[in-house]
Amino acid sequence: MTDVYDALVVGSGFGGAVAADRLTRAGWRVGLVERGPWRDTAPVRKLGIRQRAPLPYGWRVYSHFLRNIELASGGRAMVLNQDGLFEVFVNADVSILCSSGVGGGSHVYTALNVRPSVEGFWDDCHDAVSPAALEPHYVRVIAEMGGRHPRVADRIPNLASEQWRDSDVLDGTPTVEGPLHAVTFAAGNTKRDWSDGGVLGSPQGTKRTLDEVYLGAAVRRGLHLFDLHEALGVFRLDGAHRARWRVEVYDHRAGRHRSLRADRVLLAAGTLNTLRLLLRSRDELGGVADMPGLGARFGTNGDWFSLWPLDARGADFTRGLPAQVVRLRRPGRGGVPPYLLQVGFVGSSKLALPAPLRQWCKQNLVLFAMGSDAADGTVTMEGGALRVRYDTRRSLIFARIRRTLAIIGRGTGVVPRSLPSPWTVHPLGGAVVGQDARRGVVDHRGEVYGNPGLHVVDAAALPRSPGAPPSMSIAAWSSWVAAQLAAQG
Ligand SMILES: Cc1cc2nc3c(=O)[nH]c(=O)nc-3n(C[C@H](O)[C@H](O)[C@H](O)COP(=O)(O)OP(=O)(O)OC[C@H]3O[C@@H](n4cnc5c(N)ncnc54)[C@H](O)[C@@H]3O)c2cc1C
Repeated sequence: MTDVYDALVVGSGFGGAVAADRLTRAGWRVGLVERGPWRDTAPVRKLGIRQRAPLPYGWRVYSHFLRNIELASGGRAMVLNQDGLFEVFVNADVSILCSSGVGGGSHVYTALNVRPSVEGFWDDCHDAVSPAALEPHYVRVIAEMGGRHPRVADRIPNLASEQWRDSDVLDGTPTVEGPLHAVTFAAGNTKRDWSDGGVLGSPQGTKRTLDEVYLGAAVRRGLHLFDLHEALGVFRLDGAHRARWRVEVYDHRAGRHRSLRADRVLLAAGTLNTLRLLLRSRDELGGVADMPGLGARFGTNGDWFSLWPLDARGADFTRGLPAQVVRLRRPGRGGVPPYLLQVGFVGSSKLALPAPLRQWCKQNLVLFAMGSDAADGTVTMEGGALRVRYDTRRSLIFARIRRTLAIIGRGTGVVPRSLPSPWTVHPLGGAVVGQDARRGVVDHRGEVYGNPGLHVVDAAALPRSPGAPPSMSIAAWSSWVAAQLAAQG
């Protein structure tokens, strides 16, 4: 069975959802394949989507938390549940956590919408790309996500500004340039359930997700959205075909393979899986022309996770905003300070966990630091398995983070305990935008050098680490690429 599209988008996260929105608005015939299911949330029910998979609350934390796990040393991924929420990639140098489902990372993210914290993020990557060129796209995607700063009238529990008001060490007051929170605040509504909206998803729709913001409307405009359809490889077609590209897809619901064809393919499967698709299509399937820079300049946004065992008696950090920015009151010298988030285990009260663990979640926090790293890692395919090489010692940011954590530990009397090895929820790069095929993998329109009609519109194309949560940079990139394609007709 073969379907032909003007554009086929792979993945429905920040890159894929925005591209599907822009191209369907421009009247293109667009297909989108997403390996995960629609999620059972209030906004998705409202859209009239009948086949939905639950988020991992209650006892489902044991069956629906993980979709698949992959040990870089142990070969191929092990799929536990197609409806599972998270993908875990365990790798010696850095491990990666990402998600699966219609709406991609928006179900699990902490809803912080912000521009890069490093100066000149879009400078010097390509003559046609600049901060000024991308700015209208930031403005648009940030407005579409509908976030804002929290206000006292919102009556949100556990505001960092209150928690650290009298602290000499930390400041949690929101700043104008700080992130907007893409949640529905319902000002003055004292019944708002502030345990809805954590990293296990938002059944009541407190968190604004991409299915609600973009995909439902795109489907109404004619988008063919294939949920539980996983792209396995991309193949360039010869001139005898109507389309330039064929994408081999596995339909998990029907348990069969199918081919979809399109004049343009926009890859937005998230960094890890976009790189997997490109590497596999090149190295194993011979479907794409060579890309010399593929897999280079992989970064982690300097992500560094610590448990912060505050053991705050009487506190309940399982309610509130999914994450909040905190800063050192006296950052000291030594470059841009790390971007710090405090994250409560929001929603964990709804999990079937042993009582002592539930209590522990109420009283403790995660301290999550990030910052612009050197983004000098590599991703390769070896013996059918992905391998990530990344050395934290080559990025100054990790030393800065350690110093900052030590100051926080001394100042608050509670030392944050870092995870034993690095983890990232912000993998990026590997198919970066560059001036030519020596300096990048894609051009200013996200088009892969040497592979006309194949584009990368997700975090894999970002030129460097933004040093702050990256979803708006990914969305802005996708919006910019799609606008150029739409203008071209
Ligand atoms: C716990 C957590 C908290 C976060 N908090 C924030 C935050 O507050 N602010 C922020 O800016 N960022 C945050 N992020 C990061 C943000 O979610 C990601 O940077 C963003 O989602 C990446 O967008 P993307 O389009 O590149 O990929 P994704 O959003 O990951 O989307 C990729 C989609 O492609 C699908 N897919 C994968 N492979 C295939 C395939 N072969 N075929 C079909 N579909 C496929 C996946 O299922 C997924 O739905 C967070 C991430 C995590 C994990």
